[in-house]
Amino acid sequence: MAQTFDGKVAAITGGASGIGLATAEALLAQGAKVVLVDRDADALGALSERHGARCIAQVTDLLDRDSCDAMVPEILDKAGRIDILHCNAGTYIGGDLAETDPATIDRMLNLNVNAVMKNVHAVIPHMSARGSGDIMVTCSVAGHAAIPWEPVYSGSKWAITCFVQTMRRQLLGKGIRVGQVSPGPVVSALLADWPAERLQRAKDEGALIEPSEVADAVVFALSRPRNVTIRDMVVLPSAFDI
Ligand code: NAD
Repeated sequence: MAQTFDGKVAAITGGASGIGLATAEALLAQGAKVVLVDRDADALGALSERHGARCIAQVTDLLDRDSCDAMVPEILDKAGRIDILHCNAGTYIGGDLAETDPATIDRMLNLNVNAVMKNVHAVIPHMSARGSGDIMVTCSVAGHAAIPWEPVYSGSKWAITCFVQTMRRQLLGKGIRVGQVSPGPVVSALLADWPAERLQRAKDEGALIEPSEVADAVVFALSRPRNVTIRDMVVLPSAFDI
């Protein structure tokens, strides 16, 4: 029986873990070919072995400028096309700005913002030439609220929220849809950098979201008929005070 994503190629950054991996596995289950982009070569090797020929590994460190610029051309070489680009890789830092190392601020903005904009910039000519494509970005609830204990992370996510919304308008009517998913706290490696007491409170309040719940939202949006605009989706636990 034909599946929703038969014949489609989805490239997912940060695809070796957490939300990216859950989204990849959901798309694989519905017939897509996925390109997992990550800097973790060992994890990518194991995943492409586990999932077989429809799962292609692309080892890229998005913090390396040349590797970041080469990502889209390398994926096109390997997979021939990109129907879906999910810019998902990101990193987290909380705490007072005064105590944050400036080099950490650079790394966060380079990964959470610059790499997203450059990857989208690189894929647009390919999608435009075909008059079709979907761009999805993993943002965060921190990109919609001013969270005092994570100003740099929150600032980076506001930046890409705005980027998504402006790109959606700029590409309207060109066959390229742009959407984003903004989760609350998701059970993943990234939460290891959360303050321990906040993590415990989130656990106590039943406020932690599974990566598969975020993946479900992404797959739902991408499954909509092509004439339906992809909107911003927020995946929130009900009772967590951000
Ligand atoms: P995760 O740590 O499980 O996955 C992140 C992946 O990105 C890892 O596989 C890692 O190897 C990869 N990565 C990190 N730096 C990279 C680089 N320089 N180049 C290439 N790959 C790199 O975390 P996650 O929770 O799945 O995070 C995915 C996205 O979701 C991030 O953008 C994050 O900001 C966002 N997000 C996470 C949460 C949460 O609570 N976990 C909440 C909201 C939004």
